[in-house]
Amino acid sequence: MKLDRYVRQMVFPPVGETGQRKLLSSSVAVMGCGGLGTHIADNLSRAGVGRLKLVDRDHVEWNNLQRQILFDEQDAAAALPKVGAAARKVQAINSHVRIEPLAVEVSPANVEGIVGDVDVVLDDCDNFDTRYLVNDACVKRGVPWVYGGGVASYGMTMTVIPRQTPCLRCIFPQMPPRESAVTCATAGILATTVSIVAALECTEAMKILLGQGHPNQGLIHVDTWENSFEPFSIKGPDESCPACGQGRYDFLEAR
Ligand SMILES: [Zn+2]
Repeated sequence: MKLDRYVRQMVFPPVGETGQRKLLSSSVAVMGCGGLGTHIADNLSRAGVGRLKLVDRDHVEWNNLQRQILFDEQDAAAALPKVGAAARKVQAINSHVRIEPLAVEVSPANVEGIVGDVDVVLDDCDNFDTRYLVNDACVKRGVPWVYGGGVASYGMTMTVIPRQTPCLRCIFPQMPPRESAVTCATAGILATTVSIVAALECTEAMKILLGQGHPNQGLIHVDTWENSFEPFSIKGPDESCPACGQGRYDFLEAR
């Protein structure tokens, strides 16, 4: 395969030609095809990640167009399934990428199958139930995953390399109560915040896939409106964590 299209990335020493070939044979699952997920699919397909699983059960709506970068007015008018519309765009961006669109709701029954055969999992879940499920499945299967989320003008990301860095339950043992969760529907969301969090998630994925650099060991909090970028260090993994410390996968087992 000709690698010319990747030359600007290959000139960056941690990538190089060897790294580019690694990316081409790598696979990533994107859990959600919303703001973060569409930015991630755009970014990683351009970077030449060889296989992308896109997972989302929703259809394109008009209020998605403000930030969900792969969708256009025709997709919204036709209320197309997000994964189908995204797959078509991504394929037009890079026809060498193998896209697997999965229009399913992530559940305890299917999550291990979704994350079990990829190298990295990236987060665009729209609720914490799904995130805790993804955390359980990834920790159980030993698959690295990158948490990401944003609301209003701020966002957060954290990289979970099972049994090397803290997992989601090490830091937040209990899921935040659903009624307390601030959402994009109530607090809004700036597209610029989405872009930054997605960019951080993709960069983490590249470091992990390439085996280069230093993956984020803590929690990064970014606020585009307040011009702040704060990395918080976190100790761990926590031996008392039900998931990565004790091997108890409460969310997976809640079938
Ligand atoms: Zn843990």
